[in-house]
Amino acid sequence: MKQTKRVAIIGMGIAGSAVLEAYAKESKRRPDLPLHLACYDESRSWGRGLAYLKDAPEVLLNTRAETVAYDYEQRGHYATWLKETKGLEEAYTSRGLFGEYLNYFTKQTAADLNATIIPEKVQSLTYLPDRQQWLINSETLPYDHIHLCTGLDTMADPYNLQGQAHYIHTPYPLQTSLSHIPADQTIGILGTNLTAIDIAKVALKQLTPRKIWLASRHGNLPVADVEQLASLPIQVLTFERLREIREENQGVLPFEALDALIEEEFRCQAVYFPIYRQERLLPGWEALAVSLENPARVARAELLAMYITRLLNTNWAYMTRSDQSTFWKKYHRTLDLTRSKIPLASVTALLEGKESGVLDIMGGLTDVAPASDEGGFLLKSNNNNQSLKVDYLINGIGLSNNPHEANDPLIQQLLADSLIASHPFGGIIINSQNGQIISPIYGSLPTAQAHGSIIEGSIYQANATYIIQERAHHFVRKSLAHS
Ligand SMILES: Cc1cc2nc3c(=O)[nH]c(=O)nc-3n(C[C@H](O)[C@H](O)[C@H](O)COP(=O)(O)OP(=O)(O)OC[C@H]3O[C@@H](n4cnc5c(N)ncnc54)[C@H](O)[C@@H]3O)c2cc1C
Repeated sequence: MKQTKRVAIIGMGIAGSAVLEAYAKESKRRPDLPLHLACYDESRSWGRGLAYLKDAPEVLLNTRAETVAYDYEQRGHYATWLKETKGLEEAYTSRGLFGEYLNYFTKQTAADLNATIIPEKVQSLTYLPDRQQWLINSETLPYDHIHLCTGLDTMADPYNLQGQAHYIHTPYPLQTSLSHIPADQTIGILGTNLTAIDIAKVALKQLTPRKIWLASRHGNLPVADVEQLASLPIQVLTFERLREIREENQGVLPFEALDALIEEEFRCQAVYFPIYRQERLLPGWEALAVSLENPARVARAELLAMYITRLLNTNWAYMTRSDQSTFWKKYHRTLDLTRSKIPLASVTALLEGKESGVLDIMGGLTDVAPASDEGGFLLKSNNNNQSLKVDYLINGIGLSNNPHEANDPLIQQLLADSLIASHPFGGIIINSQNGQIISPIYGSLPTAQAHGSIIEGSIYQANATYIIQERAHHFVRKSLAHS
């Protein structure tokens, strides 16, 4: 009889939930597989993760309801659940509601698998190299396999403001973090991405500010989500063509070949990339206005951007670091601003804020510092040497993807013990074929895999829900292949 395999899932956000779901699927295919699963995370985020905690209803998912689900193979499941259990047919729901849904189905999967829910965080991991097993905290019974799904929990702090009075470093949940700001204040929000837009929207609704400034280095806003397309027939940029190019180049995917195919595919979809890129990178309100004028073009570009992301999930590892950098410089920002569309309700709120004179954008941000005597902060921009004073400042930049900046004691211990290493594009280094963590001391660790946003440097843009889920299933299948 086979020995029971003891498996620990550390972190139960989207990635941990996807690993659990993958075990459920594989157990159905192979009922002979004796498994004991334990799922670690603190209760408030167990089965939700950071992005889907309870929060104000205005804090929206940036993906439409029909495109996210607890299981990537059941497209439309969340939209159906919303309709059947909540009577809702909205395209964009709150992130908290998606968290409620995710939590419900993750708990159900845990119950089906007889998995143990351990409502606490893992503080330390000890590797037993002779047996390739793992000890968690001070437990004495080792695990045969671990899945590291902790994400990276620390908000970026590029201006070293953490701890300053009137500075909100960790804005989520917004409902509570913004409630301390009095009326009639000038508020600065660092960032112009979806996190910053969320904050602006809730601040406009819940507070009575004198002025709100969204401030960032580039001042770029994502596109408006006006029109959606169900599918896009791909003409030249196929998985098959990239495989052929790799074969012709001894397993390497050269940037030049990829670049030519991407530009050609954009042309086939009636989008001229150099102009499209220029439009996306327009500062301030201009890019949003252009996207509102060309919804059909944006819809085609969105599907293409999502397709390129999927294509690169599997092809990224075949590019040299220098080609990855070249790709990043030319395409990443444009694709990112296209993929993360602003829901129309948020666009309306932003434009109302602009028209009332309360909301504005500051691009070219070069420095932020506490204002010396009178309190508040000074924001400096290289656009006409503009300088602004704000009373309150909120961090909307998003999470730092540098593990060395993580607050999580577990990540710090794993770095200190050289069990994990940071990746130059963010997150930690893994083998992108099988998800195994690569330790600077032991090399590829056959009994430790990592998933989700913590591997976004190794797997291009591994931070979107369906990509995290699909990859997690693939990696779990690989790990069970020899069991
Ligand atoms: C604010 C925000 C909004 C987003 N909105 C969207 C969206 O609308 N649509 C979309 O597709 N994507 C969205 N994303 C991107 C994506 O869904 C997230 O990046 C994704 O949730 C990452 O999942 P994860 O499981 O890797 O990490 P997380 O969601 O961060 O989950 C990690 C979990 O691990 C736990 N953990 C951490 N350390 C330990 C430890 N030592 N022991 C045990 N547990 C631990 C944490 O408590 C947490 O629950 C958003 C991301 C953010 C940050």
